Amino acid sequence: VSATTLVQDCLSRLKKYNAQVNAFIEIQKEEVILQKAREAENRINEGINNKLLDGIPIAYKDNFCTQDLTTTCGSNMLRNFTSPFNATVVELLQDAGSIIIGKTNMDEYGMGSANLYSAFGPVYNPHKIISDQESNIDKYEKRVAGGSSGGSAAAVASGMCFAALGSDTGGSVRLPASYCGVIGFKPSYGLCSRWGLITYANSFDTVGIITRTVDDSQLIFDIISKYDEKDSTSLSPKLRAFNSLISYNSPLNKNEPLDLSGLRVGVPKEYMVSELSEPIIKLWKKGISFLKSQGATIISVSCQNIKYALSTYYILAPAEASSNLARYDGIRYGHQSEKNLSQLINNNENTELLYANTRDEGFGIEVKRRIMLGTFTLTTGSYENYYLRAQKIRKLIQLDFNKIFRRQNPLQQYFQYFINQNNNNNSNNSFYKKEGVDVLITPVTISISPKISDYNNNNFLNFYVNDIFTIPANLVGIPAISIPFGKLHNYPIGLQLMSQYGDDLTLFKVAKTLE
Ligand code: GLN
Repeated sequence: VSATTLVQDCLSRLKKYNAQVNAFIEIQKEEVILQKAREAENRINEGINNKLLDGIPIAYKDNFCTQDLTTTCGSNMLRNFTSPFNATVVELLQDAGSIIIGKTNMDEYGMGSANLYSAFGPVYNPHKIISDQESNIDKYEKRVAGGSSGGSAAAVASGMCFAALGSDTGGSVRLPASYCGVIGFKPSYGLCSRWGLITYANSFDTVGIITRTVDDSQLIFDIISKYDEKDSTSLSPKLRAFNSLISYNSPLNKNEPLDLSGLRVGVPKEYMVSELSEPIIKLWKKGISFLKSQGATIISVSCQNIKYALSTYYILAPAEASSNLARYDGIRYGHQSEKNLSQLINNNENTELLYANTRDEGFGIEVKRRIMLGTFTLTTGSYENYYLRAQKIRKLIQLDFNKIFRRQNPLQQYFQYFINQNNNNNSNNSFYKKEGVDVLITPVTISISPKISDYNNNNFLNFYVNDIFTIPANLVGIPAISIPFGKLHNYPIGLQLMSQYGDDLTLFKVAKTLE
């Protein structure tokens, strides 16, 4: 199809379904989209300056800075904020010829798992809405799209764009992908630049990719996985080269592309939690049997400390958030409270009150809760009992994962490798252990997409349980992918694969066999 036909297709689905799904906070002007599509089409027709993603419509979660459209983070605090620059990943995808179709809805600042915490209203799971278009959608209870990248997942699932970027701090790309029936990929921390991705919890935040196929995900990943000097946590070119060297030496390279013999798949015991329902366990077993039938060896593994992952995350992420969100004071950018403004500004003592009024009006309930929680755990007296302990447990979980994987962690091997080389000692230079697994297979979510009403009158702590399977990968920085694997009660549901830090390519390879 031509670029114009493709974007027109997406636009017509967007017009048809967005009113019910609420996937977009802002949509790019139609004439701008069509103009860009024509330019791409000319490049393709003339065969000069062709680009990899010429004319491909892409949506961005509304926490990626864009110069042309507002960047709200789903918050009243940034309702009218337009960034003076584009995020690095936005630039990279635009340079590859793609077109920004719009900015997608999200839980405020990425805090949430159901997309019910957006100042722009919830995102509804598009599944029934599009398969049941003739009938009256009010006749069944609406379900959530999942969060916090719910708008991105819903937009891809309903064909409003070819791909969408989301962000994954604790599962926000994988969870909505599972609920909506699309691929959600969280790369290794540090591979894709976070510059221009508005911070929630910086040591966890990762750019995430939502697509309909694993090949599409890999295509986008190849374009945005670049070193960026503007992001101090971007993996350096040297480490990237070292990581490729490890991949080159992988024992899996001996296999044909889709033959999984030689692949060692781990099933972590600790994922069998009491919240898991029988149908999800069945689905998980089906995934395991499938990989086995393709020649993989299945191994039961244990990461003892993973049972602390959820509570560790909910100590550390709010702590980072409480510090990161201090920038929204009503002075520099974003919302500014007008309550008694002239009086407050003329009186320095009351500047604090201006901040307080601004935050009171600008932030929603969940963001306030996280700031309070984070401020508490960072306060003298609770710091050692909560924050410091959580950091220690984070390290222990990391060690657990390093023990499980056959591939060594490049971040730990790097210096050892050069020391050994300088000493002409090659004996310790093996990048792969004899024992250990290449990937882990687990569920992504404890259930299919819940009904909106499931969230009424409920203790907010219960919502946090939904992140139990996705959070470990963020604590450790390893890559993880959610792949649709069947349906329950007519709603899609995914399985998750995880691999060692830097081993993103193995994930793609195995994910392709599961789709
Ligand atoms: N649900 C998690 C949270 O609220 C994950 C969010 C995310 O990945 N952005 O923190």
